[in-house]
Amino acid sequence: MTDQEVNIDKNIREIKRSLPEHVTLVAISKTKSNEAIMEAYEAGQRIFGENRVQELEVKQPDLPKDIQWHMVGHLQRNKVKYIAPFISMIHAVDTPRLLREINKQAKKNDRVIDCLLQMKIAEEDTKFGMDATQIKEILASENYSQYENVRVRGLMAMATFTDDKDQVNREFKTIHNLYKDLKDPYNFDILSIGMSGDYPIAIENGSTMIRVGSAIFGDRE
Ligand SMILES: *Cc1c(COP(=O)(O)O)cnc(C)c1O
Repeated sequence: MTDQEVNIDKNIREIKRSLPEHVTLVAISKTKSNEAIMEAYEAGQRIFGENRVQELEVKQPDLPKDIQWHMVGHLQRNKVKYIAPFISMIHAVDTPRLLREINKQAKKNDRVIDCLLQMKIAEEDTKFGMDATQIKEILASENYSQYENVRVRGLMAMATFTDDKDQVNREFKTIHNLYKDLKDPYNFDILSIGMSGDYPIAIENGSTMIRVGSAIFGDRE
């Protein structure tokens, strides 16, 4: 499918209509043109997600300033500085050192950057992320208590890419349980789970933020 054959406006409206009020839609625009992003923007979408720093750097200056950009992909520490001036949320914080670097770069820009800690829930072992113990260690650490320029608002994860709905359900339950434990002690309000293929299952498991790309913009090359 090409961009022209995809009705972005219709897709956005239909997905939004189907969402419970407490669930926020992040439109994942990676590999998609500024024209496609503007179509979604005209349909009322303001939160967009990308997974590569370089693509964000190229797109952000040319698009409306009221777009909230989310970095949803794996982020290398040496690239945080390029997005720190404008990024509104970083989803995939997967090491204490990355969080420290985000705090440092946010401070340089006199900003507070919202972050999510990435949990590894996929049974396949190629994905990034931390286990429950590592996540709790960060939150309990001396360093964390002193960060003034990051605000950890919750957890994020990607389920295994599979048609096995029971497996996806199991994986989402794992992160939902941890989220429920940490929510009150750490004032969490965001659980970022669910993509085009699995967001209804994610919502059943407590998702408050879904990251949807192909169901809005069509398949990627
Ligand atoms: C690409 C991507 C998505 C969206 O994937 P779709 O299957 O196209 O909805 C969500 N989250 C992350 C981290 C991604 O890289």
